[in-house]
Amino acid sequence: LLQLSVPLNFIGFVYREIRQGLTDIEQMFDLLQVKAEVTDAPDAVALDIGRGAISFKDVHFAYDPARPILNGISFDVPAGKTVAVVGPSGAGKSTLSRLLYRFYDIQSGSISVDGQDIRNVTQKSLRAVIGMVPQDTVLFNDTVAYNIRYGKPAANDTEVKTAAEIAQIAHFIDMLPEGFDTKVGERGLKLSGGEKQRVAIARTVLKAPPILILDEATSALDTTTEREIQAALDVVSQDRTTLVIAHRLSTVIGADEIIVLKSGEIAERGTHSDLLQKNGLYASMWNRQREATQAEEHLKQVREND
Ligand code: ATP
Repeated sequence: LLQLSVPLNFIGFVYREIRQGLTDIEQMFDLLQVKAEVTDAPDAVALDIGRGAISFKDVHFAYDPARPILNGISFDVPAGKTVAVVGPSGAGKSTLSRLLYRFYDIQSGSISVDGQDIRNVTQKSLRAVIGMVPQDTVLFNDTVAYNIRYGKPAANDTEVKTAAEIAQIAHFIDMLPEGFDTKVGERGLKLSGGEKQRVAIARTVLKAPPILILDEATSALDTTTEREIQAALDVVSQDRTTLVIAHRLSTVIGADEIIVLKSGEIAERGTHSDLLQKNGLYASMWNRQREATQAEEHLKQVREND
């Protein structure tokens, strides 16, 4: 009897462990549900889009209630203008772009497009007017042409080609073994970060949305690639309401306003020259980045002379 009771006890222990495990999983699902996908309000209407003026008013947001990320952010991107957000890593820059696209709902305050709170409109109509060039573009396992045409499925070959030219990627595509018919993505030809980003820009050129969100890649790009991408972006953002999440300061010089975000708050704001004059956080970031670039160039020269 004794011999039998031990294994039975053990089974009881295992059973309780499994029960506990299931409860944990249930709790996890409950948690996930709290943060579940954003849904349309029952009375949501289609966004009535004009030129896409954006307004953030006293926005508070946290992914996890215990850890606030944005603490009362207010700024406007007037129709057709460009606002750039800069700041230290983890400040909440990319979060702003995710909130405008409404991947998450905010805790308080409001985000509106052309005067309409984005929580009152359908997600479909909101996302239809926003072109997003994300940090890391995921390409479909299909041809280059397919990946660009995704921005406007009805586009003809000439439109696809023109978009690629504007995005400064046409030349690269022409050199590929099968040109626009080359298969790319995880199971095809792997493109570099800069190339993928230009495919995303071409896609956005085709979509021609009134609002543009550019989330710059954090990964360092070489100077030529960076210049090419910048040239492409300048064309695309012209006359579009543009929010740039910038990791490199060289891309924000021309912005109508620069917002310097620090620990979820706006530390400074103004144009590039305003902020340099202020000699604060932006100015020190600018000087640090310039020194880093100079050091890099110096190193390159030394290597070339070797
Ligand atoms: P970087 O310049 O490094 O890209 P960032 O300013 O864009 O930084 P965000 O990506 O907005 O920063 O992130 C802000 C904070 O929110 C970070 O501390 C990050 O860890 C946290 N965070 C980001 N995404 C999530 C998420 N999905 N769930 C929980 N926390 C998140």
